[in-house]
Amino acid sequence: MILDEFLMRSKSDRVKKIIAILKEEYPDAGPRLRFSNPLELLIAGILAAQCTDDKVNEVTETLFRKYRTANDYANADLDELMNEIYSTGTFRRKAEAIKECCKAIVVEYKGDVPNTMEELVSLPGVGRKTANMVLADAFGVPGIIMDTHVIRLSQRIGLSDKKMPDKIEKDLLEIVPKKDMTIFSHLLAFHGRKICLARKPKCDHCKINELCDYYKQV
Ligand code: SF4
Repeated sequence: MILDEFLMRSKSDRVKKIIAILKEEYPDAGPRLRFSNPLELLIAGILAAQCTDDKVNEVTETLFRKYRTANDYANADLDELMNEIYSTGTFRRKAEAIKECCKAIVVEYKGDVPNTMEELVSLPGVGRKTANMVLADAFGVPGIIMDTHVIRLSQRIGLSDKKMPDKIEKDLLEIVPKKDMTIFSHLLAFHGRKICLARKPKCDHCKINELCDYYKQV
């Protein structure tokens, strides 16, 4: 028990140092998906599954000009919508999810995107990752956004030894200060795109290598 507490405290200390260093490195870290309200971020989040943020931004630039409300998406012609989001991949599944999700928002929430985790994950096509992103970036509720970079870096650095995203998230929730959860997610994502690459991390150029378990092992 005492050892567990010690390990957790030492991980919390590491997290604080990592946040401080990466804030210097990435002063502009923040959401990469473009949006101007919670509905737009929710739609962008659904489109971002197995697609790059840049591609999603390209598609939503036109999409958001045409569809302004949840009702617009709920009543959209499925073939037309599929065509408009075609380049983001798995377009049929995504178009159906967007329509179903927006129907639920219209019927159950009078057209407004709900702002709790429980309500968001109850919407068709909305998983915990998208829900966390909407809560954190659109509603300002601090949370860990479990994208592929956050998962990979948390494991490599040694902040979690779990494999499943929900278990990693649970570990991170215990060691990342609540007020820093959102920025922590964005900082890891920025670092994952630039330095801690999936295939070949550039450990020798990494500003947090002294705090990383992976670096100590190679
Ligand atoms: S030291 Fe290497 S593995 Fe660790 S965070 Fe930096 S780039 Fe990633």
